[in-house]
Parts: sequence; structure tokens; C-alpha cells
Amino acid sequence: MSLFDLTSKVALVTGGNGGIGLGIARGLIGAGASVMIAGRNPEKNAAAVAELLTARTRARAIEIDVTDPEFGKTMVDAAVSQLGRLDILVNNAGVSVGKRPEDLSLAEWRGVIDTNLTAVFLGAQAAYPQFKVQGGGKIINIGSMYSIFGAWYSAAYSASKGGVVQLTKTLATAWSDENIQVNVLLPGWIVTDMTDLARTRMPGFDQAIVARTPAGRWGTPDDFLGPAVFLASNASDFITGASIAVDGGYSIQG
Ligand code: NDP
Repeated sequence: MSLFDLTSKVALVTGGNGGIGLGIARGLIGAGASVMIAGRNPEKNAAAVAELLTARTRARAIEIDVTDPEFGKTMVDAAVSQLGRLDILVNNAGVSVGKRPEDLSLAEWRGVIDTNLTAVFLGAQAAYPQFKVQGGGKIINIGSMYSIFGAWYSAAYSASKGGVVQLTKTLATAWSDENIQVNVLLPGWIVTDMTDLARTRMPGFDQAIVARTPAGRWGTPDDFLGPAVFLASNASDFITGASIAVDGGYSIQG
């Protein structure tokens, strides 16, 4: 069996119905896993399942809002009842509000923190009992360049994504001796719905990102297939609490 083989493994991907989450789901399916997508939008969920289903793979979706405090248990129960087990949790769902800190409302702050940070905690907490029963598991969280950097428009987003890195280290510390590895991917600038407006409408933005990125291009959701399979597989069993940039070098450019 290959180190990267995920045959007979089951993965849950929040926000797996588009963008980076769908790229990750494609990678996990390609390595042999069955995948349950957890997203809000039923049409996007159905389209993702239709794309992911092949003759040898199982894909399902559940309509979930990760700001619902009960979402974790609901999605873990669904994965176990429909796909038989749970081996991999990808906490990917995320939102951003781009405003100056003095203009950000409490509701906007809470919306970003609840979706990007609290849901990572609740998702991991919900997966833990099942991982314990099965003797281990993998959690892949999604941070950002704003886990490292700040910007005038990213108060809640940077706070949430910085928090995801620290939460990742904490969960890794707590659960490593139970064979649960918890790591975080830090995407650079990736072409998805989240960045579409800035990329296509803000004059000079697209060119500025390309110029600042040593790889000389934006990332795509397919750039996450390999990193996700690595962190979901036995190939990464001695890696936990790590932050891995998937950014074409953006964060190491001086
Ligand atoms: P998209 O907007 O394409 O995808 C966001 C996903 O999150 C969607 O599938 C959406 O599902 C889901 N989602 C949002 N809110 C909720 C919610 N309350 N409950 C359930 N699902 C929800 O963006 P990306 O693919 O770019 O973003 C994925 C992750 O990557 C996010 O955590 C983002 O912060 C992070 N990231 C993205 C970067 C980029 O350059 N694109 C850079 C750094 C980090 P639905 O449509 O059904 O609501």
C-alpha cells in the first residue's frame, strides 16, 4: 500500500462545494477516500457531489451552516452513518469582510470569527470521539497569509486566521499521543469566488499579486490536491501542529 493511499478512508470537508475545499476534495477522492461535503448552498453541494462521484468513489453532501453550534455533531453523525467511519476532517469553510477596523460592526466581527475560528474548534471537538474510537485521525485546518500578516481591511479575518494557527498547535499538543495529527495549510492568493472581486475589479491588484509572488502566478484550487493528500495520509504521521504555506513563495519574499 502506498504511503499516500487513502483507500477505505472517509473525509469530511467543510465548504467543500467550491474553491479550495473542492480542490482538496478532488485530491482526497483521487487518492481513494470517500468524501462528505459540508456546505450551505444545496445547488453547489449537489454539483460538487456530481463532479466527485466516479465508478470507484463515494461522495455525499450535507447541508450545514458552520455557525450553527450543533453543526459538528450533525456532520460527523452523517459521515459515520452514510460512509461508515471518519478518518479526515478538513476545516475549510471561511468568509471575509474587508473593512477598516473602525467601520467593522460587532455582527460582522462575530460572523467572521464564528465561521473561520469557532467552527474549527467545534468541528475538531465533534470529530475527536470518533477518532478516539477508531484509534486516530487527521485534521487539516485552513489558515491564510493573514495568519502571518495584517492589513488595514482584515481585522476580523486576520484575528480568526491567526487564531486557527494557535488552535492547530493546541489541538496537536492535546491529541498527538492519541494518534491524531492536526496541521494547517496557509494558502497564498488563490483564484476562487472569495478573491474574484478583488482580482477582477480592483485596478492593479492582479498584477501586484503576481509581482509579489515568487512563482509568478496566482494559485488555483488544484494546487491543494497534493498538500491535502500528504496531510491526510500516513506519509505525514510524524507531522503535527505544523503550518505549511501553499503560496508560491509569497510569504518568504522579503
Ligand atoms: P470560496 O468563497 O470559494 O469558498 C468558501 C467556502 O466556505 C464555500 O464552500 C462556502 O460554502 C463555505 N462557507 C462559508 N461560510 C459557511 C458557513 N457558514 N457554513 C458552511 N459553509 C460555509 O473561498 P475559498 O475557496 O477561497 O476559501 C476556502 C478557505 O480558504 C477559507 O477558509 C478562506 O479563508 C481560505 N483562504 C482563501 C484564500 C484565497 O486566496 N482564495 C487565501 C487564504 C485563505 P457555501 O457557498 O455553501 O456557503
